[in-house]
Amino acid sequence: MSYAPDTLPRAEDWRDRAACADPRYLPIRDFWFADDSDCSQVRTATTICGHCPARDACLAAASEEEAGRGQQSMFGIRGGLTSKQRWNRKKRDAAKRARARKQPDPCGTTATYYQHLMAGEPIDAACQAASDAYEQQLATASQNG
Ligand code: SF4
Repeated sequence: MSYAPDTLPRAEDWRDRAACADPRYLPIRDFWFADDSDCSQVRTATTICGHCPARDACLAAASEEEAGRGQQSMFGIRGGLTSKQRWNRKKRDAAKRARARKQPDPCGTTATYYQHLMAGEPIDAACQAASDAYEQQLATASQNG
């Protein structure tokens, strides 16, 4: 069986705009896979990434591909970041998501009273009562002792 050549124009791809694919950079293509300790090569590659019109898409693609990978399975410079920088970014984002998922403490304690206060939120009756009771305890303790 034979197939006709695909002559349809393909959809635009961010890789078409990749600065690192510019033929002028062919002699230094390995710089995007340089060891992190090779500061000169890493700096050259990341500087070129810094001017790349596809940088955001490149970084997004790297994040998607590397989502389930460990640090040892992340290679090269992508989106202007080294594998180590992407790994650190991934850990930071995961910690941020975990913090966002954390259930807030139930109202009615002095801790939640101060959490509302720090966040500039209105103080509900239960938290206000807990705070008042705590203040009362402190006042009683200072009178007695
Ligand atoms: S951001 Fe860097 S690695 Fe990504 S496409 Fe652009 S030049 Fe290449």
